Amino acid sequence: MSRKTKLICTLGPATESEEMIGTLMDAGTNVFRLNMSHAKHEWAAEMTKRVRRQAIQRATHIGVLFDLTGPSIRTGDLPAPYTLAAGDTVEFRKTGADPTVELSTTVNYEGLMGDVSVGNTLVVDNGALLMRIDVVEADRILCHVKTPGTMGSRRHINLPGVRLNLPALTEKDHKDLALAVECEADYIAGSFVRDAAHVRELREAMKALEGDAQLVAKIEDQEAVRNIDAIIQEADLIMIARGDLGTEVEFEELPLLQRRIVKRCHELGTRVIVATQLLESMINNPTPTRAEVTDVMNAAYEEADALMLSGETSVGRYPERCVDALVRISTRIERSGGQGFGQGMLLRDERQKIAKAAVTLADSLPDARLVVLTRRGVLANQVAMLRPRTAGFYAVTPKESVCRKLSLTRGVRAIKLAFASNIEETIQRVSEQLLKEELVRSGTPIVIVSDILSDHFAANSILLHHA
Ligand code: PEP
Repeated sequence: MSRKTKLICTLGPATESEEMIGTLMDAGTNVFRLNMSHAKHEWAAEMTKRVRRQAIQRATHIGVLFDLTGPSIRTGDLPAPYTLAAGDTVEFRKTGADPTVELSTTVNYEGLMGDVSVGNTLVVDNGALLMRIDVVEADRILCHVKTPGTMGSRRHINLPGVRLNLPALTEKDHKDLALAVECEADYIAGSFVRDAAHVRELREAMKALEGDAQLVAKIEDQEAVRNIDAIIQEADLIMIARGDLGTEVEFEELPLLQRRIVKRCHELGTRVIVATQLLESMINNPTPTRAEVTDVMNAAYEEADALMLSGETSVGRYPERCVDALVRISTRIERSGGQGFGQGMLLRDERQKIAKAAVTLADSLPDARLVVLTRRGVLANQVAMLRPRTAGFYAVTPKESVCRKLSLTRGVRAIKLAFASNIEETIQRVSEQLLKEELVRSGTPIVIVSDILSDHFAANSILLHHA
């Protein structure tokens, strides 16, 4: 039985060679992520070409995910990093305002002073420095340092619990989005999505450029958590971006939030990715810590669609071993079963009820396989969210781009195959293909569910065939 949990690798200096991309595919990568916070346009376009070439060589369907930077708040340029002691006063001021204390920097978000209040916590560099806001004025805020540390240029600032009026997409995001569409990205991720309107704005901007990528909403702060249901219903996928989210909430809340979001994604039928620090220590070490093994196992046990590596593969010393570790851990936990959140999926329309009936039938037949005939992948994704337990689950579709858009869907293997004009012949083709690939034996029961319309086959039909 093949692995169900899909894997995402972030590309970077450690993994940019075409040979290494091929190696990571062979190791089990399903999707490559380009982090536009670091990637130059020429580089991202070249990486996309390398991924596509290597996938074609292997006759496999590998996705490319462009991860937009989003509206992050950052410190200004400093002549040299500030070394800060507990109790020091630090100023963050609007561009153009004069410094009033020695330790002063500009901030790239003009609206900051209007959003924050005295007493709010300000976090710099993903938790490396904690400050309390003491003074808020029209063009500056003054903070006192609570934990000592170093503050450098263009460091990321978080404001836990503060409702920010940042735009959904920056000018840079619009440029990166245009590149993603030009490169025919399979997935585009929006960072710091805070409500459903932000996802809609991203979708409209993409559609205006005639893109058709699947949209990933990265959940990174408390406001996104408050609006989680609406975001889940608007996005194609959710990413639990534990890096920023872990800075925005108390750390003991993070595992509970992860579990709640994964569960809600199952209930509402939206795919979900668990990201960040899954194997952080493997940036420098060849084996994971025991705690990392347990964390990966937990995410696979929760039956997330995909797990994502960031620094581990972009700059780490052991990218291939990281993929291998995820493969080993997720395959092992899959053998002993999962959380079963798919059982709680809310069946809100007839199509979902048909999907449920097909999964129930296939799961009840010994050694059966499940096949979804799908033109756009929608039915395949809905069937997948029910987490079928069959030994094989295949989505058959005529389009390569749809195959790639299923590369993050848990448990499914996409098969590119042209549909015939009548359903009998289509089923025959599917059966022959599965026999040829040795995915079934003669006589294996195959439950086929479809949302295609053809001469003799209505959409939303279930059929039991024997190979
Ligand atoms: C995260 O914060 O966990 C994350 C994935 O976002 P990024 O690495 O793009 O900041």
